[in-house]
Amino acid sequence: MSGSTQLLLKKGVADPALFALLADLPRESVVSVEGMVRRSEKSQRGFELAPTRIDVISRAGVPLPLGVVDKVGADLDTRLNHRVLDLRKPAVHAVFELRHAVLRGLRDAFTHRGFLEVETPKILRQGAEGGATLFPVEYFDTRAYLAQSPQLYKQMLIGAGFERVFEIAPAFRAEPSDTIRHITEFTSFDVEMGYIDGAEDLRRLLEDALTETLADARADLTRRGNPYAEKIPDAKPPFPRIPFSLAEEWLGRPGAEEDLGTEDEKAVGVQAEKEFGSPFYFITDYPTRVKSHTFYAQRQDEHPELTGYFDLDFRGLEIASGGPREHRLDRLEANIRTADLTPEQFPGYLEAFRYGMPPHGGWGFGVDRFVWMLAGLPNIRETRLFPRDRYRLDP
Ligand code: ATP
Repeated sequence: MSGSTQLLLKKGVADPALFALLADLPRESVVSVEGMVRRSEKSQRGFELAPTRIDVISRAGVPLPLGVVDKVGADLDTRLNHRVLDLRKPAVHAVFELRHAVLRGLRDAFTHRGFLEVETPKILRQGAEGGATLFPVEYFDTRAYLAQSPQLYKQMLIGAGFERVFEIAPAFRAEPSDTIRHITEFTSFDVEMGYIDGAEDLRRLLEDALTETLADARADLTRRGNPYAEKIPDAKPPFPRIPFSLAEEWLGRPGAEEDLGTEDEKAVGVQAEKEFGSPFYFITDYPTRVKSHTFYAQRQDEHPELTGYFDLDFRGLEIASGGPREHRLDRLEANIRTADLTPEQFPGYLEAFRYGMPPHGGWGFGVDRFVWMLAGLPNIRETRLFPRDRYRLDP
């Protein structure tokens, strides 16, 4: 029995020695109790336990650095500094049941659609797009990097004939910004599918699988009596498709060179809810100028100024991003050069395109972001057991 389980021990009723033992025992200690259980209308749980024997298995130190049953809240930093105690709180534990339900739902939805779960390397010679958000690692007598994304490897698996794969794995980003939605280690749910016929195949797959995931998660949480069951929204495919150019018009910034920022995304979320009444929506047809560094994003044959890339947003926050990839080697190499990189930097990746590569595409979906939004928590860090950010490496 842990400290969070209540033991009703009344003076005058229980053995005085046992009473003295418990009266002196600090909160959160671990004890083993033998006794008689009897119904009690006065007890919150409907029963009480009259102990005949109590063994102290592990005595908690005093004072506790963080209260577990106290009503007074601590700030997030204090909570994360003493995360083991924080995680004992039922309200915090409930977040991880929600996370489990989402992960299980996603796994099931893709497994029964014929996708194979894979694991790609997290220690790489080269990042997906190069750039400043890579963590370097001393790797014997050379330099390696922690994977920002499984992007290149999941595409290589399509070349290896796997056809439908998904991966649930950590992604590492050296995000210097200290925001409530960025962490340096997050869980990415990545999907890649071969033989697609354009971006719509991917969007339909994503919206159907996500709708199913949410229904499964709600049922799982209801069974557990978890309060987050009620927060799971109803998703109704098809989700609205909002071309990037329309989002830009709404924002009054047509033709801008850069991607939508946080405030832009929020404003588009408000407008999308107003026009379509849906918390989920796709922003489609990302312009090539915005995705110029994303060399693997296929440009549309009829409109090379546009890619087939899309984001899935949920209430004004980007949750996933992906689209059809360029599977033609000559065009892929040209895109790499346009992104100020060289094909020689990606020998293993490009070999996969040399011996037969079908049209394919997929996306990366941020699990932490999704759980964070579903739970309605103030900070994404609360969705990870032991979060990592610019300033936090402990515990
Ligand atoms: P953003 O523009 O919000 O920084 P991004 O465009 O870099 O995100 P992608 O590379 O498209 O993101 O990654 C796919 C998904 O992974 C995102 O939609 C998001 O859900 C998640 N993600 C990306 N970076 C982070 C991060 N630092 N912390 C938590 N989740 C992240």
